[in-house]
This record gives sequence, structure tokens and C-alpha cells, in this order.
Amino acid sequence: MTRNFEGRVAIVTGAGNGLGRAYALELARRGAKVVVNDLGGSRDGSGTSPAAQAVVDEIVAAGGEAIANSSSVTDEQAMNALAQEVKAQWGRIDILINNAGILRDKSFSKMSIDDFRLVVDVHLIGSAICTKAVWEVMKEQGYGRILMTTSATGLYGNFGQTNYGAAKAGLVGFMNSLGIEGGKNDIRVNTIAPAAATRMTEDVMPEEVLAQMDPSTVVPAALYLVGEDAPTRTILSAGAGGYQRAYITLTRGVRIDAAEATLERIAADIDAIGDREDEILPDNAFVQSALGLGQI
Ligand code: NAD
Repeated sequence: MTRNFEGRVAIVTGAGNGLGRAYALELARRGAKVVVNDLGGSRDGSGTSPAAQAVVDEIVAAGGEAIANSSSVTDEQAMNALAQEVKAQWGRIDILINNAGILRDKSFSKMSIDDFRLVVDVHLIGSAICTKAVWEVMKEQGYGRILMTTSATGLYGNFGQTNYGAAKAGLVGFMNSLGIEGGKNDIRVNTIAPAAATRMTEDVMPEEVLAQMDPSTVVPAALYLVGEDAPTRTILSAGAGGYQRAYITLTRGVRIDAAEATLERIAADIDAIGDREDEILPDNAFVQSALGLGQI
């Protein structure tokens, strides 16, 4: 096996269970030194347990190098301290996998704003906190690979997951701008949309389906997205042996003179506006106005 992460230093959040654990084990097996972060809470984010240490013990027993960290990704001070400790101990931070997450599923009618806020806080703000903690280190060393974790819910929607969907879609927006900012320092930012049998999905899919969805089926795509040859600003979906790429596209639409742009005209032209022929894949925000101005 090529140990293609030899000498690399990786932080994987929420790596005490499920997907994060699988990423951490494989990164270590391929030569990376790994920080296994996990608060060790239950699926809804309550409580704590020594989940991170158990994964570190597994890595060390297999001959790898790892350290455990049991802070919450929402704890800015603790995450900054962790990044400084890792830099002091191992000299660099090459990879950050923002994976930690919780669920508070309910229909929007029944969901409290506290449930909404907490889920956004862990997934979106937690990812921003961890990214901020490693950002200057990655810039200084001129190398970084950051992976966000979205979800099919964030990309396409799911009943009972308005909070989770909002947080997960936010991570795609975070990636898109951060990837532009990181470009000149070779910091590449990508997103994985996994589907795997973990405690997060144990009661949402039947057992025979879950049996085909081992987290190990997601690992190759996630590791590709944090490797030396990774692309940037790419969303890969992975799970159950299927690998896809998701795009955010823009139709060419129509141009209407200001004097004629009424809601009736929009209604009349809605099919032409939505026509997907010659659809564009914008690589930055200005493409939309360039289309409007008739420049492209
Ligand atoms: P999991 O519950 O097995 O793992 C999530 C881990 O994150 C847990 O070990 C938990 O303790 C940890 N965690 C939670 N809050 C934390 C915090 N504040 N700080 C540090 N650690 C914290 O679930 P999983 O399925 O492995 O999920 C991993 C990621 O993949 C999540 O972001 C999830 O939303 C995403 N995801 C999973 C699926 C799937 O099919 N399993 C689908 C789409 C997205």
C-alpha cells in the first residue's frame, strides 16, 4: 500500500465514531499523524464519553501515531489551543476534516429555535472555528487541505431536517469562498456528502440497506479530497459503493429590458429562464451579473 499521507498531520473532528473514526484510522494507516477530536456526546449532542481515546488506542495498537482531544468544536479557545499544541508537537497541520455533527430532527413546526441554533452551531460555526484555528498555520506553510461535510439533506432537502439542511448547505457556501481565498497558499477546500451506516442513520434506513453502507465506502472519496493531488471547491457524494459529483449550476436564462421587466413577463418567460440547455457552472459570484450584463 502507498503510504501517501506519510509525514502529514491531520485533525479529524468527531472522529470517535462513525465516519470520522474511519477517516482517522485510514489516514493513520497511510502514514499521517492524526488528532482524533471528539466530544463523545450522544447523537443529539448531550453528554460526554472517552470516544476519542478509544480510536487513538486503536491507531497506536496498529503502529500509528495519534493524539486524542475531547473538546467541542464549538469551543473557540479550546480549538485554537489544540491547533497551537499540534503545531508545537508535530510542526505543521496539513489536513483538517470538519466532520463532527449532531442531529435534532423535527418538523419545522415542532422545532424550537434552540434546536435550530444548536445544530447550526455545531456543524457550521464549529467548522468555521476549527478552520480558523488552523488557517494561519496552513497559510504560513503554503499547504493545506480542508474538508467540509455536507449532506444530501443540505443539497436537496429532507423532511424534519430544516436546521441540519441549513447548516449543511452553509458549509458548501463556506467552501466556495474559502477555496478562492486559500488558492494562492495551496490551501484546497472540498466537501463530502457521505451516506453511511452510523448511529446517525441507524433508525432512518432499513437494516438490509444499512448493511451495504459501511463507512469504509466513503473513506476513499474523503481521502482523495484531502490528498496532495486533491481538487479544490469540489463536492463529492459517496456511500454504499456509489460515487457522484454535485454541481451548483446556473441557467443562461433570458435578458429583458428594464422597461419590460414585470412579474407578468417573468411568468411568461419562466420556461426559458429555467431552460437547462447550455447551463453554466460559475466559478465565482460575478458570473451571475456578467450574464445579466450580457458580457458572457
Ligand atoms: P456519528 O454520530 O457516528 O459521528 C459524529 C461524531 O461527532 C460523534 O462521535 C460525536 O460525538 C461527534 N461530535 C458531535 N458534536 C461534537 C462537538 N461539538 N465537538 C466534537 N465532536 C462532536 O455520525 P456520522 O454519521 O459518522 O457523521 C459524521 C458526519 O457526516 C456528520 O457531520 C454528519 O452530519 C455527516 N453525514 C453523515 C451521513 C450518514 O449517512 N451517516 C450523511 C450525511 C452527512
